[in-house]
Amino acid sequence: MPQALITGVTGQDGAYLAQFLLARGYRVLGLLRRSASSDVIGERLRWLGIIDQVALLDGDMSDLGSLIRIIDKHGPDEIYNLAAQSFVASSWQQPLLTAQVTGLGALNVLEAVRIAAPRARIYQASSSEMFGKIGTAEQNETTPFYPRSPYAAAKLFAHWMAVNYRESFGLHASSGLLFNHESPLRGIEFVTRKITDGVARIKLGLSRELRLGNLEAKRDWGHARDYVRAMWLMLQQEHPGDYVVATGRSTSVCEFCQIAFAHAGLDHREFVRVDPLLFRPAEVDALRGDATKARQALGWAPEVSLEALAAEMVEADLARHRARLKAD
Ligand code: NDP
Ligand code: GDP
Repeated sequence: MPQALITGVTGQDGAYLAQFLLARGYRVLGLLRRSASSDVIGERLRWLGIIDQVALLDGDMSDLGSLIRIIDKHGPDEIYNLAAQSFVASSWQQPLLTAQVTGLGALNVLEAVRIAAPRARIYQASSSEMFGKIGTAEQNETTPFYPRSPYAAAKLFAHWMAVNYRESFGLHASSGLLFNHESPLRGIEFVTRKITDGVARIKLGLSRELRLGNLEAKRDWGHARDYVRAMWLMLQQEHPGDYVVATGRSTSVCEFCQIAFAHAGLDHREFVRVDPLLFRPAEVDALRGDATKARQALGWAPEVSLEALAAEMVEADLARHRARLKAD
């Protein structure tokens, strides 16, 4: 039975990836950092009904010893490094922590693999945010990087360390340049989920408005379920590499509002308010990925449209709020 270790298993992608790997017969190990709220920390794994099938192991991205011990003891065949302080806006409030976990944490994983399991295959969760202030309409594997936040700078460090460990030590390390991907399990602070949660609240009479920042920003949004499949495909290749994973469609925050509100029979213009306090110190204006390499080399293509994604998220948030209302 192949074994996979997922750091960040309690996050959106970690949960979907664990589900994907379990369905393919993997034994799934997940890194779990200690929390005083341990009763709620596995919420996403519980939501997918897989929490009892994942072996959760105590460790932290900033504790190299914990990573070495876990990798040495279990000898996973594949390691997916998904753990990060992943919210761009918070990275200006906690830049050092972001560098520590998102940047140096990735290096800790690479070091642990180099020391304890040099034959394991590694996936590094890189990000389209690394492209940042780009001059091209579409971004691919050869587009230059220009990070616009402490998060993006930390991810860039992690990305180049993965490339460097591949070139220096021959590690099978692949880096996925993933564009934004969402789902009902997306953190509520990210704009798509904030919008779908807002739609559900307004629809059920729990809120009267939704306050957002820059409505003009454009992102290439896909579904997390599609994107974890691309991660796995990268590690099934004989040779490691870097791949852009994206839908090729760019949509503004305002357009996403329109789609999500319309799904609930509402007009977003009646409820969305712009709050200047929610603008960022530096913005990534527009992203659109060119996933030609992933399509040709991995045979990967997204299956879920933006409309289907928004509908699934709105329905899930409506169900969550209805369940809460019923329980009260
Ligand atoms: P989430 O924010 O949902 O999950 C982050 C995970 O990292 C959580 O499991 C969190 O644990 C864990 N974590 C944070 N700090 C530590 C730490 N010190 N030690 C151990 N674990 C830690 O992110 P996503 O699932 O959305 O994204 C997965 C990865 O992909 C991230 O690296 C993200 O930056 C990257 N990425 C995501 C994109 C997206 O659109 N979703 C796009 C491109 C890249 P806890 O539950 O305890 O907080
Ligand atoms: P990011 O691309 O990883 O930063 O993902 P987010 O979902 O956090 O943000 C996507 C875009 O939405 C960014 O350009 C934000 O500036 C913009 N945005 C506009 N209003 C909001 C808001 O209220 N919350 C968040 N998170 N983003 C917002």
